[in-house]
Amino acid sequence: MQNATLWRALLRVEKTIVEDIEYDEDEQLLVAHVRLRARARARSRCGRCDRRSPAYDRGEGRRRWRALDLGTVRVAIEAAAPRVSCPVHGPTVVAVPWARHGAGHTLVFDEQVAWLATQCSKSAVTELMRIAWRTVGAIITRVWADVEALHDRFADLTRIGIDEISYKRGHRYLTVVVDHDSGRLVWAAPGRDKATLAVFFDALGEQRCAQITHVSADGADWISSVVTDRCPNAVRCADPFHVVRWATDALDEVRRQAWNEARGAVTQRRAGRSTGQAKALKGARYALWKNPENLTSRQQTKLAWIAKTDPRLHRAYLLKEGLRLVFQLPLEEAAEALDVWVGWARRCRIPAFIDLQRRIAKHRTSILAAIEHGLSNGRIESVNTKIRLLTRIAFGFNSPDALIALAMLTLGGHPPLLPGRA
Ligand SMILES: [Zn+2]
Repeated sequence: MQNATLWRALLRVEKTIVEDIEYDEDEQLLVAHVRLRARARARSRCGRCDRRSPAYDRGEGRRRWRALDLGTVRVAIEAAAPRVSCPVHGPTVVAVPWARHGAGHTLVFDEQVAWLATQCSKSAVTELMRIAWRTVGAIITRVWADVEALHDRFADLTRIGIDEISYKRGHRYLTVVVDHDSGRLVWAAPGRDKATLAVFFDALGEQRCAQITHVSADGADWISSVVTDRCPNAVRCADPFHVVRWATDALDEVRRQAWNEARGAVTQRRAGRSTGQAKALKGARYALWKNPENLTSRQQTKLAWIAKTDPRLHRAYLLKEGLRLVFQLPLEEAAEALDVWVGWARRCRIPAFIDLQRRIAKHRTSILAAIEHGLSNGRIESVNTKIRLLTRIAFGFNSPDALIALAMLTLGGHPPLLPGRA
């Protein structure tokens, strides 16, 4: 095997001539000087649009691109980066076959970082690849842009779930769309309003909007008004896990009230020591949230204690459980049970649940539609949970685009491959 062929294979640089290899022992850095083959050079293309363009000038001279390490040695590719005169983009740095336009890393470097970002922890990626987390964000953003251009994410979409996810403190939200049938994340964008969601339906196009048969959402008015407008024939469903979360939130409100009252009582008596009731209520949070079948024996004891000492809070707990059970019934029984539940909540004398009952009554049709059409709630919830995990990992990226890229590459059904593998 000739040296030049070997180097091209190791560096994965096609259509080039490896002119020189220079090794700096102190820096542990290997620099490969390459140039485009005469034929490729003669047919120079614009770095942005790949259109063949006449030469313009020498640009800023030679440039370096970070390549994958060889063994323990860092590697850079160095080459001239002249500009061409693109009819559309004007003077632009020429396209090189080993890197994306404007990138400081080679294509295979980008691919490896994208694969790692979907598989490993933040520190594993940054330490192994010797790059900052923000650089990881920039890399996965450009990798996702290319993947997105290659695949039709919206093919065969019929049943979708729409949701909003908070990704940063201070009310920053993403609107996300999930495919109920494949469980894939289909689309995400920053914002949670009609205009944001309209962008999705614009991208989907009129014809494919007409193919949407079911849309599930959390009951937010801004979502339902856009859906009514764009997919008038789709069955609208409530995501059961959102409905159960409303009940959990209401229960939490009652628990907080009870806790504040218990604390207030203590303060009034000026007894600095005995905050037992308040403390126990604070600790009861998980016992109240969890499904009864998953309670530990300690949590069961806590629940029994609540039943005895705070009948109101216990009633709120039973209401939450009652609503959760509705979703486990067949449609006819569920419809009946839901109406019984609404009547029960209306008379329960707990403001949080009286409000909830109104909300449930308002969304009755879409709640029952979710049960009737058996929309796989677990799937949407699991995608949701995974995106929430990613938002924590993505903290430190400086734009939501990087978070979206990470979420799409991880959950969108087109995961990155390691370079050189099929
Ligand atoms: Zn161009």
